[in-house]
Amino acid sequence: MQKSLENQAVLWRLRVAIDAPLAVNFDYLAPADTTPSDVGLRVVVPFGSGRRVGLILAVLPLSGDGTAADAPAADQLKPAESILRDLPPMPADWISLCLFAASYYQAAPGEALLQAIPTGLRKPDPVKRRALKAVSKAEHEAPMQPALTAGQTAVLDDLLPRLNGYSANLLFGITGSGKTEVYLRLIEAVLAQGKQVLLLVPEINLTPLLEARVTQRFPHVPVVSLHSEVTEAARARHFAAALTGEAHIVIGTRLAVFTPMPKLGLIIIDEEHDPAYKQLEGMRYHARDLAVWRAHQVGVPVVLGSATPSPESWANVQSGRYQRLDLPERAHADAVLPAMTLLDTRRMTLDEGLSAQLLEELAQGLAAKEQSLLFINRRGYAPVLTCTACGWVSNCRRCAAHRVVHSLDRTLRCHHCGDTSPIPRQCPDCGNADLRPLGRGTQRVEESLRKHFPQARILRVDRDVATTRKQWEVLEAQIRSQDVDILVGTQMLAKGHDFPALTRVCVVGADAGLFAADWRAPERLFAQLMQVAGRAGRADRPGRVIVQTEHPDHALYQCLLRHDTPAFLDLELTARQQAGFPPYAAQAIVRAEAKQIDNVLDFLQRIRGLVPQEQHPEVFIYDPVPMRMVRLAGRERAQLLLESPSRIALQNFLNQWLPMISAGRGMTRGHAPGGVRWGVEVDPLEC
Ligand code: ZN
Ligand code: ZN
Repeated sequence: MQKSLENQAVLWRLRVAIDAPLAVNFDYLAPADTTPSDVGLRVVVPFGSGRRVGLILAVLPLSGDGTAADAPAADQLKPAESILRDLPPMPADWISLCLFAASYYQAAPGEALLQAIPTGLRKPDPVKRRALKAVSKAEHEAPMQPALTAGQTAVLDDLLPRLNGYSANLLFGITGSGKTEVYLRLIEAVLAQGKQVLLLVPEINLTPLLEARVTQRFPHVPVVSLHSEVTEAARARHFAAALTGEAHIVIGTRLAVFTPMPKLGLIIIDEEHDPAYKQLEGMRYHARDLAVWRAHQVGVPVVLGSATPSPESWANVQSGRYQRLDLPERAHADAVLPAMTLLDTRRMTLDEGLSAQLLEELAQGLAAKEQSLLFINRRGYAPVLTCTACGWVSNCRRCAAHRVVHSLDRTLRCHHCGDTSPIPRQCPDCGNADLRPLGRGTQRVEESLRKHFPQARILRVDRDVATTRKQWEVLEAQIRSQDVDILVGTQMLAKGHDFPALTRVCVVGADAGLFAADWRAPERLFAQLMQVAGRAGRADRPGRVIVQTEHPDHALYQCLLRHDTPAFLDLELTARQQAGFPPYAAQAIVRAEAKQIDNVLDFLQRIRGLVPQEQHPEVFIYDPVPMRMVRLAGRERAQLLLESPSRIALQNFLNQWLPMISAGRGMTRGHAPGGVRWGVEVDPLEC
């Protein structure tokens, strides 16, 4: 469209997305310098009593009413203040991605769009930009590339010719099989085409590791990282560098899936099975699923790497949506899989939960001057404190959960709401002084190991000692430099780290995951155990893995014993198919909370009846039920599960039903009478 009247300053209206929980966008009079190519730029507009930065979604003729029938007339429009031209416009595919996420995960489009932009770029003033420095020192030359294994060669021969179009690929490779080397070769090929690469990792702790390998291999290529520990200013800078195309490689956690990359050529999702890819606040998206959608939309390959793929991805392989590529051998020719042993403890006397055989294994490790890991996925000293006289237990005052005994600072701590108080000297109910900790966590195991092996250097690694990435890096250096004989740790230690001297992994307390109420617990347990087992043994030192269990015949352990991940996944999927669980059904959950559970259940019962069941035969709404942990931080919680054999039917129903809920008397999106707060989650990981 051309300007038809030369002297008329304002010819356009801007349709602007604002970060607000509203389904609509807002129209403003365009500033004089507006052109139709300003779609995707940030714009400062008056909103309510203040100013906001919004995103231009459309530049429309002022006279017409644009696309929406309810667009306000020109004389009712407020003028936009100014268009920010410090950065190129957000690419159209990025806007589509955010809008898709908003519609699929039932969030407001303005929230999805603006919250995907770092806060530094959501201020009414242009950002100060700094030229991006390559992360590593330029004097380094790229190291020699290692020779490829037969497996790596086969995978690359398959993938490299397919870089110029969409394909979804599950790279299934056991720990140590060299998935990272495959990533690096793919990145190299994509960079050579002048394109950008997005590399997603589940955890902040894993970003420096991968970043180091990437920058070593490509010392002259600008790499940026995006995760929650990057400072606000740096995040804005990195985001901008990706948007301008200056950054060629973006490494980040789930939020990085929303990085604008105009020359995107490849997406890699490492540890694709990891639940950390799911966002659990605000818009509850799954970064892996969005990344696959994004790859499809832009027409680039996506590679999902894992040693223990998610059942969802495995099902996508079975249905032909994903292509499976295997790395069946460890990268070092002489490295062998660790020997797995199940230690049946049913007829054994245990000392503080540890069997004599397990202690003997650790003693052998010490004698051989090799590192051992005792894996127990529970932090603290003991999960609960009890009174031997009256049965009092250390419940949390605000949650339906026990408070955990922490021995170092002698506190009782709730792992859900953080409520902390000193360990009482006597029972608060009966005054009895004989209070006993029940069960065990990392601290208690550490204590008993110190008694058994007073000469050993023992290090505990869990969220209590490694809260920040810095702390973790210090511990990791200690482990790598072999200043540690026995590690006691949680799943923190299981992921992606390479400890060359570690030969023995002993697992205790794993049985709890077999019979948990959450039907995804076995899948997580299996992934954890396979990962932690993968830490044991390297080239010249074969590893040993010993699992203490009272259920040695359980199918999960039998698959573990044989290192047979495909068999485990097939079993899981068969069970899910029989039970009608995802991925064979689509689910959504409405969760609500208030001071009193009755208000919550009333609310859920009411919204359940808003549309009669016969009007949505394909979507089944279960009865409202209190959540497994009904009380959290003083509020009581319940949920409504929706299920459908068809994802589309479920989406259609949500699109019709959720606005009806919000339109009810006294209701808004997220709030209802009786002090009820509510929200919806599509594809929940826990229900
Ligand atoms: Zn008592
Ligand atoms: Zn609590």
